Amino acid sequence: MAEPRKKPPAPRPQQAGAPAGGKAVARKPASEVGAPAAPQYESLIPQSSGLRALLAPVGGFGVTLSNMFRKTVTEQYPRETVPTKPRYHGRHQLNRYADGLEKCIGCELCAWACPADAIYVEAGDNTPDEQYSPGERYGRVYQINYLRCIFCGLCIEACPTRALTMTNDYELAGPTRAGMIYEKQDLLAPLRDGMLAAPHPMAEGTTDTDYYRGEVTGATQEQQDWVREQRPDDPTLPEGPGLTPAEQVGPTAAAMAANVAAAHRQGGAR
Ligand code: SF4
Repeated sequence: MAEPRKKPPAPRPQQAGAPAGGKAVARKPASEVGAPAAPQYESLIPQSSGLRALLAPVGGFGVTLSNMFRKTVTEQYPRETVPTKPRYHGRHQLNRYADGLEKCIGCELCAWACPADAIYVEAGDNTPDEQYSPGERYGRVYQINYLRCIFCGLCIEACPTRALTMTNDYELAGPTRAGMIYEKQDLLAPLRDGMLAAPHPMAEGTTDTDYYRGEVTGATQEQQDWVREQRPDDPTLPEGPGLTPAEQVGPTAAAMAANVAAAHRQGGAR
């Protein structure tokens, strides 16, 4: 069977303005072919003249020169530690009531509010023999992973009892990942004068609402007697020696403090 004849290629469309035969010609400027001419550029910045124009090239150094004689604001950290602003978001703290009971009720709202999933909480039930916080529940496990925390403060906004607040401590450094996870013992506020270490019963005749309202102002005689009976050697009893600052810090926080101190020495801190 004979093959169908191929169609001859269609002639290429001639370019507008190009002469027949494809010979190139110089293009005319647009203004000559009827198009409106582009408006000439005019700077909106006022042009200086005279002495001003003469000094303009060095005028840019004015900012540099004026700052050369100002008080320096560079902080020589870690040789010098400058206090932070009062509301700086630093390391967290789990607060206590005035009698030593913990404010955390293990509700997990802080963990749910955390956008970085840095907080882990497990609640436990308070019992007559082991009462850690006013009410039914307390934070049995409390962890903050400082490798994840972005110090946004949403957790402290979510906390219904003001158990969780943030300190101004920003020196958090460690050589291991595990060492950056603070446990409850590392986060609990130190026991102040008049406080008894938990567990112990709530102040007699009070409810958790009384605690929230700040109506409990210290450990009562009954609470002291209860602790004396259960833990006669408790150092936080009025007749006891009390706890030293080192004894009030959890192992992870203590290791972290040692790391930071070593870093300060390395950095030439005075
Ligand atoms: S710290 Fe506050 S928000 Fe978090 S579990 Fe405890 S009570 Fe709830």
